[in-house]
Amino acid sequence: MTYTSRSTSNKAYNGLPELQELESLIQEGKDLMRIRVPVHIQHQDTHLPFYVLEMGSTSPEAPVLALVGGVHGVERIGTQVILSFLKSLIRRLHWDNLLQDQLDHLRLLIVPMVNPGGMRDNTRCNPNGVDLMRNAPVEAEGKTPWLVGGQRLSRSLPWFRGENGAPLEPENQALADAIHHGLKQQKYAISLDCHSGFGTRDRLWFPYAKSTAPWPGIGAAHRLTELFEHSYPSHEQYLFEPQAHSYTTNGDMWDYLYDDYARQQPDGCFIPITLEMGSWLWVKKNPRHLFRYHGLFNPVLPHRHQRILRRHLVLFDFLMSATRTMPMWAPASASDQQRAMQDALSRWYPGLDGNITTAV
Ligand SMILES: [Zn+2]
Repeated sequence: MTYTSRSTSNKAYNGLPELQELESLIQEGKDLMRIRVPVHIQHQDTHLPFYVLEMGSTSPEAPVLALVGGVHGVERIGTQVILSFLKSLIRRLHWDNLLQDQLDHLRLLIVPMVNPGGMRDNTRCNPNGVDLMRNAPVEAEGKTPWLVGGQRLSRSLPWFRGENGAPLEPENQALADAIHHGLKQQKYAISLDCHSGFGTRDRLWFPYAKSTAPWPGIGAAHRLTELFEHSYPSHEQYLFEPQAHSYTTNGDMWDYLYDDYARQQPDGCFIPITLEMGSWLWVKKNPRHLFRYHGLFNPVLPHRHQRILRRHLVLFDFLMSATRTMPMWAPASASDQQRAMQDALSRWYPGLDGNITTAV
């Protein structure tokens, strides 16, 4: 379905100020972007649009940076940081020709609100009671934490994966289509999926969620980590690490989408990253958050909210530059790949030396 400016009814905005903000940004920047609404998500008596935006190069092989938010409805801050970046981008493009040049050499693929129904309900799951980050047909190796790792007992418990053998939920199918088509000719791509709610630090997680063994792309991820840490030494707020260092799960969409990509393009380089904003810190600073479910995942105080919207803009800018220049720094030759892998193992898997067995 193509985009029309009056696609969303007033009713759909109830409880969804982010959707209103997104559509006003689309109005403001419509000459700078390609806009699609591949599906509407049914929610009670209305249908909520699932937006896919593209900006920048239309060259089929341009490196792609995908920005994704709102997978878990209650983690609204993920969508909000993307909208904050998008607003800044649209306004800078009026005068900033360096930014224009940047976008001439890469493509942004933006899915700012994957789960609009969950966001409207202020729930983690989608309107069918499914946790979209446990819903992919991916089984973890070994034991996962009880419930948190994904469960098929009941949709009234959290972390429900959906029925065994059922197709992907509509939100995930639309996300999978957007990523699959967006990356189908890309030798180089990075994605950032913005979440909140785990720990006290901002974590940048690499795959796999399904396995504690090293992910085959860990060498490239390590090189990206070094680029950031070396170039932004005062931004030690981020902890770069494989997700499985924290916990493993079944059904992770980025495991699924990475494996899909690697099957199509065994020589390509795709680094999916999950940003987990450390919202426990917000609770620690203001324990009243504990009594507001929303407050466990989102900054409540206005000054803190503004600070969170600001603090990740550097990361987004960095990822644009890093995506554009991947041909320069991503490990290419076999010996370079081996070196990058060895460096990654020394940092994240110090117990493993010599015998490298990556997860499959
Ligand atoms: Zn989340």
